[in-house]
Amino acid sequence: MTEPEALLLPPDDGSWRLADYLRRGGYEAARKALTSMAPADVVSEVRRANLRGRGGAGFPAGVKWGFVPPAGPGPRYLCVNTDEGEPGTFKDRLILRRAPHALIEGLVITAFAVGVPKAFIYVRGEYARTAGRLEAALAEARAAGFIGPRVLGTDFSLDVVVHYGAGAYICGEETALLESLEGRRGLPRVKPPFPAAVGLFRAPTVVNNVETLAAVPGIIRRGADWFVGRGLPKDGGTRLFGVSGAVRRPGVYELPVGTPLRRIIEDHAGGPPEGRRIKAVVPGGLSAPVLRPEEIDLPMDYDSLAGAGSMLGSAGIVVIPDGAPMLDILHLTARFYAHESCGKCAPCRIGTAWMLKIVERLRRSGGRPADLDLILSLGEGIRGRTLCPLGDGAAQSVRAVVTKFREELEQAVAR
Ligand code: SF4
Repeated sequence: MTEPEALLLPPDDGSWRLADYLRRGGYEAARKALTSMAPADVVSEVRRANLRGRGGAGFPAGVKWGFVPPAGPGPRYLCVNTDEGEPGTFKDRLILRRAPHALIEGLVITAFAVGVPKAFIYVRGEYARTAGRLEAALAEARAAGFIGPRVLGTDFSLDVVVHYGAGAYICGEETALLESLEGRRGLPRVKPPFPAAVGLFRAPTVVNNVETLAAVPGIIRRGADWFVGRGLPKDGGTRLFGVSGAVRRPGVYELPVGTPLRRIIEDHAGGPPEGRRIKAVVPGGLSAPVLRPEEIDLPMDYDSLAGAGSMLGSAGIVVIPDGAPMLDILHLTARFYAHESCGKCAPCRIGTAWMLKIVERLRRSGGRPADLDLILSLGEGIRGRTLCPLGDGAAQSVRAVVTKFREELEQAVAR
């Protein structure tokens, strides 16, 4: 697989303005879609490209768009999920900073494809400063006629609203995001119905992640085959892999889907600092079960990670070095989920709280090795019994730490 030139992330040289984007061929895809393609053709091109959602779940974007009922008299919406709160994940923030027009162009094309006249960009509160650049880019796009009434002189009009969240991790879950946008507390809804049928203000709604939308212009401009060729047949394109933790060059790397995890860590991020070794790797944000060093020779795609008992998730890679106590990692994980559980369903609300209490007892030296089994059984009580994926994320990430580093944890508890 040859390495393509970076597409989503141009160099970090301040060239994010509209003039820079136009110089790189920006908005040609929007022009092509709006002036020479039918909305259904745009949907089928993206479907053929096998663009899987970049937010974590990996649902194919074109298929999701196809679930929206044919345009009728009522309203319909597009929501951009910019509530990037998964620990270890910071790729969408870079798109806002370095390529805001790629997001806006993807949004315009998607809104046209699904027949949406109004879009909301839901930005996590902590990104308010970064999103200043997005707001400036939106102003440029509006002034140039890429959004607003009669986009590019066509009959298609698009209004875009930026909305800031208040910092709850759960609002990254699409139905909680919709609740929050409607002015209520961000609690997940029972699904079905899915947002494509009953979404924002009970109207058909498409919710897509920032990176997903930013990939759309490339597909329309160069075609689905080109996109598939940049990744894997069932999972096209490049992805933004964020690498943090114990590496020499932490950052975000745009690489083909399927690039081996070890190569990303060692070749691109420079591997662990001098004298340190890798003890564990979280491959896709905190919800992705941790891998041991001998498990990281695998391609970074949904199927390969699932086959290894983990998940690609948001592709946020966290490298944990030797010397890091896994009891501390377990505590950080349990504390995060107990804090972020919205409390709507009992298995998650009660289970994550008890997990944290037990891990805290272990850290105070008041625990017993059998507490590790108690933690596992709490996880079993949560898994598959909750309204949204946060509960599963808590159960599976805690379980992986306990089962893969049991010996170390037992020694820590016995001391
Ligand atoms: Fe809320 Fe947790 Fe239930 Fe999700 S799983 S709805 S976060 S209580």
